[in-house]
Amino acid sequence: MKAIAYIAAAILIFFGVIFIWGAFDPKSSPAWFLIGGVSVLIGFGIIWFASRSKAGQAGAPPQNVTLKVDLPANVAMDTLKCKSCGGALTPDNIKMVAGAPVVTCPYCNTTYQLTEEPKW
Ligand SMILES: [Zn+2]
Repeated sequence: MKAIAYIAAAILIFFGVIFIWGAFDPKSSPAWFLIGGVSVLIGFGIIWFASRSKAGQAGAPPQNVTLKVDLPANVAMDTLKCKSCGGALTPDNIKMVAGAPVVTCPYCNTTYQLTEEPKW
């Protein structure tokens, strides 16, 4: 995966340099210089990003496990009930969909957004 990023970056920089080189030709349009510059910048950006994520991988453990319980404010989970059947819901029944907490009731299979809670 990382090797692919470096290869893609190398290709981008390679073609970017060719475009900039071509821009010095009086017959070519100055837009070439812009295209070349942008692709070189993206290439270096990928290298920077790839090397940065490698450094972060060593220290921090993967965090995707806690993501699904990432709810706004402190939700009182013991009082949270399905608005369709009244069954008690756990954090496992709530998933973040497009930035909004969505409840999937394990009892009646109702799916709805957690937006009408007056407490938070
Ligand atoms: Zn329900």
